[in-house]
Amino acid sequence: MSANRNSVEGQVITGITKLSQFLRTAQWRSGSETGLTPTQMQLLRELAAKGPMRIGALAEAIGVAQPTATDAFEALRRKELVEKKSDPRDGRAVAAAITRDGHKKLRSSDNWADGLTAAIGGLDQVDRSGLLRGLTKIIRGLQVQRAIPVQRMCVTCRFFQPNVYDDPAAPHHCAFVDAAFGDASLRLDCGEHEVAPESQAEAAWRRFAPATGAKNVDASPAATSEAP
Ligand code: SF4
Repeated sequence: MSANRNSVEGQVITGITKLSQFLRTAQWRSGSETGLTPTQMQLLRELAAKGPMRIGALAEAIGVAQPTATDAFEALRRKELVEKKSDPRDGRAVAAAITRDGHKKLRSSDNWADGLTAAIGGLDQVDRSGLLRGLTKIIRGLQVQRAIPVQRMCVTCRFFQPNVYDDPAAPHHCAFVDAAFGDASLRLDCGEHEVAPESQAEAAWRRFAPATGAKNVDASPAATSEAP
């Protein structure tokens, strides 16, 4: 199904393309300042956010083929920004980890997306919540189509209890931190995420997005059964 350029879908794709152009340019600019490629920067950010992980999982998380992730890892290892460590989940296996110098390098470039951060900061609360809710649905839609791996976001998390409170500003509950929250705090990449069992994920999705939930539920079991 192709989107007509003037349809809502076509215009949203145009908007996202423009944002991607901004991000690509910002990544290359940041890369020329740090001497790293966008893939190397992505790899560093992923390791900083999630801790040591195997190259296969790392490749999947940043959306590249394993040989590409291996090349990026080896280039970063030569610069002593990453290292090999024993996998905390399986002491016999080896995992990639960020070094102290790697963290320092990241800090020196953490303003790479400032322009977009400022633009998002200029939105009012309603627009910001709507944007995050819309992104959550789009990303899950891609996940259901198996176009991207399962993401560590609230709507696939076993701790997520959507629309359980009457407060429109904070209708959801996170059982991990045992607190209520609203759409403006939905997470798209949460370190505490744990994949929900299939039936729980389906029920949560129906409660979160009753108007569109039924449409996507059929394809969700396989998609939600994979580990993040
Ligand atoms: S643990 Fe993270 S992903 Fe899970 S519900 Fe809480 S905030 Fe969302």
